[in-house]
Amino acid sequence: MPKHEPVEKLIIVGSGPAGWTAALYAARANLNPLVFAGRPKTVPSTVLPGGQLMMTTEVENYPGFPEGITGPILMAYFEQQAMRFGTRIVTDDGLDPDVSNPDDGHSYSYHDCKRIDMSQRPLLVVGEDDTEYRAHAVIIATGATANWMGLENEQRLARSGGGVSACAVCDGALPVFRDQELAVVGGGDSAVEEASYLTKFASKVYMIHRRDALRASKIMAQRALDHPKIDILWNKIVLDVLGDEKITGVTLKDTQSGEESPLSLGGLFMAIGHTPATGFLDGQLALDAKKYIKLRDPYRSLTNVDGVFAAGDCVDSVYRQAVTAAGMGCKAAMDAERWLADKGID
Ligand code: NAP
Repeated sequence: MPKHEPVEKLIIVGSGPAGWTAALYAARANLNPLVFAGRPKTVPSTVLPGGQLMMTTEVENYPGFPEGITGPILMAYFEQQAMRFGTRIVTDDGLDPDVSNPDDGHSYSYHDCKRIDMSQRPLLVVGEDDTEYRAHAVIIATGATANWMGLENEQRLARSGGGVSACAVCDGALPVFRDQELAVVGGGDSAVEEASYLTKFASKVYMIHRRDALRASKIMAQRALDHPKIDILWNKIVLDVLGDEKITGVTLKDTQSGEESPLSLGGLFMAIGHTPATGFLDGQLALDAKKYIKLRDPYRSLTNVDGVFAAGDCVDSVYRQAVTAAGMGCKAAMDAERWLADKGID
């Protein structure tokens, strides 16, 4: 196994608002943090990691941007700000992309963290190429990934580019979806956001929701209800996704009457929530029933393992906002700094 020397003070795993904010605070505290930014998962076609905001067009509720800002630009700012103070990132080419020039087009390739052995001290952090890193402290900020319905044809057509996607903002502008009737599954803020986005390209957008009331915030829900191109199909679940090479439609079931009905579609987009990216922890950290990391104290970032801190959507099933994730990243860096200082590591 290739080994990385020396022992790092702090490794941060994750590159959403929580990860970059932790890196920013840790870097300014001279902890010289090393970040596993992770291969892009939310938007596979881009070279940029950055988590769920990479699939958000207009972020209107991140303070400091009165006119709004796109998710990818916001995340690029987060990264640049963290790098300005000496954050390092694990990449294909070694540790140090040209941090003096964060505008270098991100031509380097980011790495995943494969596993962390928390039974050893210093902690053993293994990269995707099996390089072994050692760190006194680790912050987990790996976020969450999109959920799927789990239907066979949904998965097949999603994998083959057959018009099924979990990211309207990534794929909705593709020519194949232009002037088509499209559908979004879900009734939360993401579903409304994705449906609104798709109206720019589609002839019509259905929202397929399993209940008779939207989960989305009032302002977002009203946006969907008022939109002339959005038609909400209430009390409906998708029984099957139809089509061989490309989606042709879905079979719907009415949850009240049990009646089944076909719906012709040129594309289908999932917006049915997320699952925290905590599987790689291999049961070493205490998780709750939904697999979110449990904190020792809800106001802090300490996990049940000494020296391991957690922040952002991998912890938070309630608020799940960029601004709350960033705040948690700040807390994690400050907690890690104090913990390291107590151990005489500075
Ligand atoms: P969410 O709030 O958990 O909503 C998920 C939706 O999918 C719900 O309507 C749920 O139905 C439905 N659903 C879940 N599993 C399903 C299944 N198997 N089949 C059919 N439908 C299913 O998730 P989200 O919309 O991704 O939002 C997550 C968080 O991010 C929220 O706190 C949200 O406010 C925030 N967010 C904010 C913005 C914004 O402000 N711009 C944008 C996006 C997200 P039920 O309602 O019946 O449970």
